[in-house]
Amino acid sequence: MSEGKKRDNNPQGQQQESKTISVRAFFETTPPGVLVSVKGFPRSRSSFAPPSIHSMQNLDQYVLPDIELHCPTEKNCGGIRTYSAHTEFSLDQGQDLFAFIEYRCRNCGESIKIFAIQAALPHGRDVASACKFGERPSFGPPLPSKLIDLLRPEWEYFQKGRRAENQGLGIGAFSYYRRVIESQKGVILEEIIKAAEKLNADPHLIAELSRAKSETQFTKALEGVKSSLPSQLMIAGANPLLLLHDALSEGMHKESDEECLKKAGDIRVIMAELAERLAQVLKEDQELKAAVSRLQKLRQQRGNG
Ligand SMILES: [Zn+2]
Repeated sequence: MSEGKKRDNNPQGQQQESKTISVRAFFETTPPGVLVSVKGFPRSRSSFAPPSIHSMQNLDQYVLPDIELHCPTEKNCGGIRTYSAHTEFSLDQGQDLFAFIEYRCRNCGESIKIFAIQAALPHGRDVASACKFGERPSFGPPLPSKLIDLLRPEWEYFQKGRRAENQGLGIGAFSYYRRVIESQKGVILEEIIKAAEKLNADPHLIAELSRAKSETQFTKALEGVKSSLPSQLMIAGANPLLLLHDALSEGMHKESDEECLKKAGDIRVIMAELAERLAQVLKEDQELKAAVSRLQKLRQQRGNG
């Protein structure tokens, strides 16, 4: 049942999701621009008769819950951590509020997340309708740093694609991602060639990849790559270049916004995984070289001694 749908003054252009979610799910997993039904926003202290003994359960009704988010502070966190609200917020029946809400990582105390929200609770109801206008840093798990390295000159456009994807704008997200990959195809193929060479791949593959680099269009370029990639670069048993080729061809002229959104999501996931694997292969090579050189030195020292 949707309480949110009953609201008259829904801001225009927002998608309505019908199931009721918790306050925690609202902050953690709801992208901006989506109107949702939320149960459990704190109520103001004055809305309650003061309890004779303040149990923890009673206090919980007045404060925003802790949430879990990715904390980007590399030194101390760099993973999912608990964040606590540093803004007081309450919503009573009959109220329709706009608010900026600050959450802070409890582990490092440094990382701050700010949400801009609207929430309304009709008279006689316990489910609010709520919407995020935005959040900083932006919604969703962070894109891997290896992907930033791979797409750096066009990174801003990739992030815009991510923003469009978060808001359910499939054609927009698809167009941004395709533009970035097309313009960075030389770098992407060059990194794959480097990795393939380290992995002693079939010389035919290297030759095909080198030829592909000179093609102007990425999808066309990939059609010339017939040899399979080394297993270390395969993603769930599939060739990421073929996956990207299939996701990038066709596209927005023929397909619905929803289909483009799915493809955009697939493109992002494959690119992120490919970037991680390339970095892993090239790093392993550096580690291996360092280890071999250390052992060779040791051998020489023993030989001399
Ligand atoms: Zn932290």
